[in-house]
Amino acid sequence: MKNSSFTSAIADIKAKLSIVDVIQGFVSLKKSGKNHIGLCPFHDDNNPSMHVNDEKGFFHCFSCGAGGDVFGFLMRYSNIGFREALKELAQKAGVRLPAPRPRTRSEKKKEATSARFFEINSLVCSFYSKNLRSSAKNSAWAREYLESRGISSEIIEEFKLGFAPDRWDAAVKFASKNNIGVKELEELGLVVARESGSGHYDRFRNRIIFPINEITGRICGFGGRTLSEDESKQPKYMNSPESPVFDKRSVLYGLYHSKSEIGRKRKAVLVEGYMDFIKLYANGIRNVVATLGTAFTNEHARFLRRFCEEVVIVYDGDTAGIRSAVRAGEILLEQGISSSICRIPDGLDPDDYLEEHGPESLAELIAAAVDVSDFIIDDTFARYREKKMSSGESIKFLVDLVSKIKDPVRRAEAVSKATGLFGIRESEFLSLVKTSNPGRNRGSLAPTTLIPEKSIHEREIVRILLKFPHLMSAEKIENIGRDFENGDLKVILKRVGEGEFTEVSSLMSSFEKIEMQQLLSELIFSSDDLIDDTTSEKILNDCVKELELRNIAFKRNEVIERIRKQRDSSDKTLERKLVEQYRDLVSMEKTIRGTAS
Ligand SMILES: [Zn+2]
Repeated sequence: MKNSSFTSAIADIKAKLSIVDVIQGFVSLKKSGKNHIGLCPFHDDNNPSMHVNDEKGFFHCFSCGAGGDVFGFLMRYSNIGFREALKELAQKAGVRLPAPRPRTRSEKKKEATSARFFEINSLVCSFYSKNLRSSAKNSAWAREYLESRGISSEIIEEFKLGFAPDRWDAAVKFASKNNIGVKELEELGLVVARESGSGHYDRFRNRIIFPINEITGRICGFGGRTLSEDESKQPKYMNSPESPVFDKRSVLYGLYHSKSEIGRKRKAVLVEGYMDFIKLYANGIRNVVATLGTAFTNEHARFLRRFCEEVVIVYDGDTAGIRSAVRAGEILLEQGISSSICRIPDGLDPDDYLEEHGPESLAELIAAAVDVSDFIIDDTFARYREKKMSSGESIKFLVDLVSKIKDPVRRAEAVSKATGLFGIRESEFLSLVKTSNPGRNRGSLAPTTLIPEKSIHEREIVRILLKFPHLMSAEKIENIGRDFENGDLKVILKRVGEGEFTEVSSLMSSFEKIEMQQLLSELIFSSDDLIDDTTSEKILNDCVKELELRNIAFKRNEVIERIRKQRDSSDKTLERKLVEQYRDLVSMEKTIRGTAS
C-alpha cells in the first residue's frame, strides 16, 4: 500500500481516531502513566499486560508480544484483513478511501468465496423469514407457536426469525430459482446430498429458524427448532454444520445484538440456546448471550472476555443443566473471568421460569447468583451428603477446582470453604493441589521472542535507528543492510534508510502484515530504555562492529572451505590468492576488534 493517496488516507484516519478510543470499544483500559493498560485479548491474560500509547498510536502486549497500530489491532481482534480494517476505520473516522489496489488472485478468491457464502446465507435468511409471513397453513402454525411463547413481531423482525416449510425441497427449489448452486448450499449445510447419489434434500424442515450472526452482523449459520409434534423422531433443536464461514466453537448466539449492552454493564448473562436467549432478551434482560445449544468452550470464554469481566450462568435447573453450568463455570474460572451460577428452582428452564414467575422474579434470581467456586463446593458437598460421591472423590474434585482458580484471593476463600465443610486441614488440602498440578502456571507466559538470538545485534541496530534515525547516514544504512540476515529487520532498516517516514506511526501503516506490525511495535515499545543519543550511538557502533565481525567470520569460513576444496588441484595461483584473502580478512578482524571498546 505505497500509493500516496492511500498513505494520506491512512494518516488522516490515524489523526482523526485515537487508538485508545478504538481499543476501548472492545477492551476496558485504564490510564497508567503515559500509557493505557488493559487485559490483552490475544492471550490468556490475568494481569493487564497490554499497553496502549495514544501519542504514538500503538499497542503492545508484554506477555504474548501482540502489537501494532490501530489497524493491526482491528485485524487481529476481528480476524480480518488490512483492507477490511481500513474500510471499517475509514468509516469510523469519516475518511474517504481512494480506489483500491488490485489484490492477489488467492486473496480475491478467498474473499469472494466468503462474501458469496455470506450472501447466500442472507438470501436464504430472507427466504425463511418470508415463509414465516406467508399465508400457508404451516406458516400460520409457526406464527401461532411464536406468539404462544410470547415472542412479539418486533423481536421476530429484529432477529430475522424464519420458518422452514415442512417439505423436502423448499430450499433446493429456492436455490435453483435464485442462481444459487446446490453445491454451494450443500457446503453451507443447508441441503444434504441424498445417499442414493442423485439430488439433494433440505436439512431444515418444519422448523422455526434462528439465523446466527457473527460479530459484525453477517449471517454465518442457522439454528432450527422443530414444530413437529413427535419430538422423539426429530431432534428438538439442530444447527447447520460448520462451514468456511461458520465456526461453532467461537460463535455465540445473539452477541451481535447484545454486545453493546454487555459492554456497558461489563457483565453477560449466559444461557444455553436460542429460545432462552430470545425470551430473556424480549423480557428486558438485554445483556444476554447464548451458546448454540452446544458445550461452552475456551474460545467462547476468550471471546466474551473482550466485552465483560463477569458472567452469570443461567442454565436449566435440572441435573443435566447444573452439570453443564458447572463445566461452563470451570472454563470461565480458568480463563480468569469471574462468574456465578443462577440456580433455577424446581428443575425449570429459564424460559419456563419466566412464563410462570415473570421477568422481575428471574431478574432477582440472576442478581442472587452464587459465585461459581462457592456453588461448586456446595454442590459437591451436597452430593457427598447424598452419598452420590465418596469423600475421596469429592476432595479430589475440589482440589481440581481450586487449581483452576487464578485469582489468589478467591482461591484462598475456596480453600477455606472446602476444608471447613469437609473438615480437613488446609495444609493437607494445599499439598494435594500442588501434587495434582506439577508445573501448572499458564498465567505467566514468557514473552514471545520475535527475533532469534543470532539476530540480536541486527535487532538492536534497528531499534536504535527507529528512535534516533539521525545517528547513521543513509549510505551507511544501505551498506550494513546488506549484511542483515533477518529478512524482516532488513525490510524495516531499509525503510528507515530511505527516510520514507516522518514519524513511526506512518512507518507502521506501511506494513500490512500483522507480523511486521507486531515486530515494529515490539521494537518501539521496548525503546524506552534508550535515553539519550550519545549512549545509543555507542551501543549502535558496538552492534555494527559485531555485525561486521560476524560477516568476516562468515567470509573466512567460506575461504577456508574453498582452500580445502582446491587443495588437490595444482592451481597454485588460486591457492595463493585464497590464502591472501584469508589473511586480509584476519587483519580486518583485528582492526575491528582493536577499535572495539
Ligand atoms: Zn497478549
